[in-house]
Parts: sequence; structure tokens; C-alpha cells
Amino acid sequence: MIELSNITKRFGENEVLSGISLSLPEGSVTALIGPSGGGKSTLLRTINLLEVPTSGTLAIGDATVTLTEGGRLSRGQIQSIRQQTGMVFQNFQLFPHRTAIENVMESLVTVQNWPAAKARERAMSLLEKVGMAHKADAWPATLSGGQQQRIAIARALAPSPKVLLCDEPTSALDPELAAEVVDVLAQLAREGTTMVMATHDLRLASQIAERVVVLESGGVVETGPARQVFDAPERERTKRFIATLK
Ligand code: ADP
Ligand code: MG
Repeated sequence: MIELSNITKRFGENEVLSGISLSLPEGSVTALIGPSGGGKSTLLRTINLLEVPTSGTLAIGDATVTLTEGGRLSRGQIQSIRQQTGMVFQNFQLFPHRTAIENVMESLVTVQNWPAAKARERAMSLLEKVGMAHKADAWPATLSGGQQQRIAIARALAPSPKVLLCDEPTSALDPELAAEVVDVLAQLAREGTTMVMATHDLRLASQIAERVVVLESGGVVETGPARQVFDAPERERTKRFIATLK
């Protein structure tokens, strides 16, 4: 249901993604791992077109865009892909001047033109799902990092995206708060949410992901079922990298 074909991204002379092809079935959970600078964030950002690939084809649900060198995408094409994705960032990035529930309602009201009452109802049910309904009217700055991230997850899910993209969702959190976030993501995975997560958090990756993709210097160097990649990686270098996460 998500298909990346030969996605390349260059920043000037620097080729950051070198012909990535991946196919992510509906309901699958994929962990992107690999050394810093390998291209994990850039890959996630190309899936929702926060970064436009230099070339390649991206298909999500029934939207497909193909980039050729020097080509551009229309606003409509970008929207057709972006509407189908939700993104969670390492540093939460909640709107500081909006309450928890207003953060979750925002895109429904401003992008999808939902009436406020209906948006509030959906936002409240999402806050319940992430265990944050009791903080619906709180300001982000008064909440712990784990609470803020759970609200950010609810916000990303509000428009019912086809895929939830998470860029190191637990990296900014102490272990106890990270565990709250892992629990929420694990629950979403059990419910069949399609997810792609870049992470250095072995617990997150090994508890939730079915599939692991190892990205190094802009290329996929190893991929397979999570068990296999974690317990018996094909490459010596992957084995050494995984050892650094433990
Ligand atoms: P990771 O998330 O795996 O640490 P990134 O995707 O952040 O890797 O970075 C991959 C490479 O792309 C790095 O060399 C980084 O410096 C470069 N890069 C990322 N974003 C930009 C940008 N906006 N402009 C120029 N170079 C970038
Ligand atoms: Mg990154």
C-alpha cells in the first residue's frame, strides 16, 4: 500500500538517498535503523513530501507521484500524498499556544473544514486512546515529554492517515516516559496502524516492528523480519551496529 521506487534525494552535490525501493504492506510496522546521518529522517520526510525527492516514484493508497530530475510537484500532488500521512517528531513539536485538545483538532478544523464540535469529539476520542483525555485543556509546556509525545501521536492520527511516520519518537525521553510512548505505539500496532519508525530504541523496534530496514549512507543494506535482523543479521557491520544499541 506504500511503495517507494528508486527514490533518490540530493542536497546539492550530496546524495543522501541513493535509489531506495521499499514496499510496505497495509498494517505493517517497519523500523528504520542505522547510523546517524544514514538518511533515516530524510527518507521519512520524503514519504510525506516534507522533502521532495530528486527522482523516483512514491505511491501511498491511490496517490502516486513520480519525480524526474529537475521536475516539480504541484501543490495538489503534494497534498494528495501528505493527507495520507501523519508524522511524529523527536521533539513533539506541539503548537505551544494551543491546548492539548486544540493541537489534536487543528488540522481537522483548518485543513479538513470540520465543524469545531465534531473535531472536538474526534480529538477527545483520540486523547482517550493515548491516555491523555484528562489533560485535554492543558498547555503543552505544563506536560511531561511523554505526555506531549502522546498528544503529538493523537494529533498525527486525527486526519486518519494511511501511515504514521515516527522520527525517533522516544529519543528525547527518559526511559520511564519513553515506555509510555512505546505502550501507545504498541497498541496502535496491534490495532493495525501502518507505521514506519526511525529509531535507536531497541525496545521500541524489537517490541513493535515486524520488519527492520537498515539504512546506511543513503542505501538499504539489510532488510528482513525484525527477529532475524536483530538476532542473526546477515552483515557483520549490522551486527556491530545493533550491539551499540544494547
Ligand atoms: P539520519 O536521520 O539517519 O541521522 P538524516 O536523514 O538526518 O540522517 O541525514 C542524512 C544526510 O543528509 C546527512 O548527511 C545530513 O547532513 C544530510 N541532510 C539532511 N537534511 C539536509 C538538508 N536539509 N540540507 C542539506 N543536507 C541535509
Ligand atoms: Mg534522523
